[in-house]
Amino acid sequence: MSAAGTPGARATTHTCPGCGAPGVARDRYACRPCWARLPWKYRDRIMTTWRARQTHNADSSHLVAHHHAMRDAEDWYTNHTK
Ligand SMILES: [Zn+2]
Repeated sequence: MSAAGTPGARATTHTCPGCGAPGVARDRYACRPCWARLPWKYRDRIMTTWRARQTHNADSSHLVAHHHAMRDAEDWYTNHTK
């Protein structure tokens, strides 16, 4: 994953899919605690598809795969809220 951000880069953030906390950096899927509690297989899938997406930018199938990985993780959070 990329580091904390390049100066001048878009500073957009989103809401954490696990707890709803705002301010999650654009290149992160969830806030730190939520990312930590997500099972490894979900994290691995998100990171793998994310990397493929960076490498094969023109191929939209990687974008779709990444979206599916994130959607499945969102389902996991929905079923595993405290
Ligand atoms: Zn969270």
